[in-house]
Amino acid sequence: MKNYEKDGGNPMETMDKILVIDDSPVQTEFLSSILRSDYDITACHTAEAGLRAAKEGSFSLILLDVVMPEMDGFTLLKELKGTELTRFIPVILLTSLADIQYEERGLLLGAVDYVTKPFSPVIIKARVNTHIQLYHYQMQFRRQAMVDELTGVANRRRYEEECLVRWREAVRFELPFSICMFDIDKFKLYNDTFGHPAGDKVIAAVAKTAAGFFHRSTDLFARYGGEEFVALFLGSDGRTAFEFLQTVREAVENLHIQHNSPVGPWVTISVGGVTVVPTTRDRPEDFLKRADAMLYDAKRLGRNMVVWCDENVRQLRERE
Ligand code: GH3
Ligand code: MG
Ligand code: MG
Repeated sequence: MKNYEKDGGNPMETMDKILVIDDSPVQTEFLSSILRSDYDITACHTAEAGLRAAKEGSFSLILLDVVMPEMDGFTLLKELKGTELTRFIPVILLTSLADIQYEERGLLLGAVDYVTKPFSPVIIKARVNTHIQLYHYQMQFRRQAMVDELTGVANRRRYEEECLVRWREAVRFELPFSICMFDIDKFKLYNDTFGHPAGDKVIAAVAKTAAGFFHRSTDLFARYGGEEFVALFLGSDGRTAFEFLQTVREAVENLHIQHNSPVGPWVTISVGGVTVVPTTRDRPEDFLKRADAMLYDAKRLGRNMVVWCDENVRQLRERE
């Protein structure tokens, strides 16, 4: 089956990957022979090897034997469902008719289906096709649920999820972590002057421009709500982060979207941020609060401005 649903529905010529975990090489070979014309098959003969493969490869489905020496299928299934990287991969259990009582346990543990040995190639293929299709729908749904509709950038839910992951990375590798809030200046006035639909276009244009600056795999830029955005990135010291955000602020101003507010002729943003080398005692939400306090100062000091709190808790301002 071709991978049509990935990347927003663009047809791709790659095959879906299936991981087959069974201690019997005869069984894995038989399953491979049934499925390999439509899928890219990887076979593992122990649960341990299966778990490693599942974490490394991007599989769309796992076919898992229940009865295996050493770690059995149930233990592995629990492990797969409890691991962030693998918990969404559907697992079909392979059971022999003799262990049919295991099905109940397997399904309760989160398997999507089971097939009984000896296999009917037609039934296996049909079930595999169905579950791979469902998997793609689920992934598409999850992607959409994480994207802000107006701007196409990550939404707040995605931010909340990702922030913790990035934070833990920063703690583990002792990396400086920067987080900032942006807010469009005098935006209520913009809506009042040009109308709400025009305001929506401005939010989208500001998002697009700012998002273009956060393209590293460890960066995250999201719409936090209304006309507010949040960005986080790793590895820059406070001064560098502060200067980087000035570039972003200038890029928005240089879009030259007419505004005529007390701030100036163009649409502008104010930015408040903080850089910290986090420890296990810290919590990311406390630093978002500090970034928000910096944003409040940027507004108070005249707007169209970046105010930053560096790792030594010193405030950096573009203008006094
Ligand atoms: P400040 O410079 O202090 O940020 O002033 P402001 O007017 O931008 O701040 P305020 O928080 O008073 O107003 C925010 C405005 O943003 C009010 C609201 O109507 C508008 N807004 C929020 N979400 C949207 C949206 O999705 N579309 C449009 N067009 N406007 C929005
Ligand atoms: Mg606001
Ligand atoms: Mg505003």
